Amino acid sequence: MTPRAVAPGRPPRVVWLLLVVAMIALGAVGVAQAKTSEDARALAALQSGAAYVDPSAFSPQIAEQIRTDAAQLIKRGDDIKLVAVSSTGGQNIYEYAAELRTALRYTGTLVVTTPTGALGAAGPRSAPSIQNALLVVGADQVSNPAARLLVAAEVSTPPPSDTSNGIRDLVLLVGLALLGGAFAIGWGLRREERRVRDRAMEVRGVLTVYADALGVRAALLAARRGQTIEARALVEAVDAYHLAAAALVDHAMTEAELAEGAASLRSGLLDAEQAGVLLGLELPAAQPFDGLCSVDPAHGPLAHTGQDRLLCAACVDRLRAGHELVPRRVLIGGLPVPYRDAPVPYEITTPLAGART
Ligand SMILES: [Zn+2]
Repeated sequence: MTPRAVAPGRPPRVVWLLLVVAMIALGAVGVAQAKTSEDARALAALQSGAAYVDPSAFSPQIAEQIRTDAAQLIKRGDDIKLVAVSSTGGQNIYEYAAELRTALRYTGTLVVTTPTGALGAAGPRSAPSIQNALLVVGADQVSNPAARLLVAAEVSTPPPSDTSNGIRDLVLLVGLALLGGAFAIGWGLRREERRVRDRAMEVRGVLTVYADALGVRAALLAARRGQTIEARALVEAVDAYHLAAAALVDHAMTEAELAEGAASLRSGLLDAEQAGVLLGLELPAAQPFDGLCSVDPAHGPLAHTGQDRLLCAACVDRLRAGHELVPRRVLIGGLPVPYRDAPVPYEITTPLAGART
């Protein structure tokens, strides 16, 4: 079976069909209205800075977190501005972001949020592509404004070596949003070389184990009592990174998309370690599976049985019932191997400083 080649520059009719459906589904037709009074202040701050936070609408801790996040994203190589305004004056927040970006003559990605949870972004990627990316990960569900901006930045900036023309992006994301991923992935796979596809599927499987481990750590952190504002912001960031990483890894088809998912995983693991320090949990980023069930990190934390095997409560029960415990497998070179024997992808467990230059 030879896949039919798609003529360059002439996407199949289904693409346009999807586009129309997406526009209807999104219904994001904004109403342009008068500018808010803080526009001038935001513009002035964003001319040179990577972040603007309205001090009347957000706490100093949140403002500090947003500025720190923006600085870290830029250090990582993202072209990004994070904006927290008191309101958009009734304007659709995606349009607001686009107008701000145009006014600044900015070529990177600009993410905007408000205290009420509205979230929008504008950047080099097409507007439907960005809207769907935020939709897919549920970025507007993140309650902490700093974490909300961070997860939006993670999924709306272009992948590091983005060579797509926007159409592929659109098809992928629209397909994911409307059809649960199966259609988009199937459609995209026909254009992928078999070798590339197999490698992507294998890396995706390995990254999923790490994403599951990060999810367990996020839940452990969220359950800790007596959180300071600083700790809570970090815990929310870990949750946001986990959401973004899981969605990105789940739908990744290319090296660039896998790398993007891996970057979210690494950031999440690092924030989890920091949050753990504040909350009395040892969660070393370099050892993402520490403290988790050795059969499958997704099972959760270790049961305290005093035995030397590192098992969750359910696995302890299964073992006692006489079941054989088989560690979770991933595919490497087409062969199933225990997840711990898989090479660490994308240096996820290597500290960030200098790792991605
Ligand atoms: Zn287990």
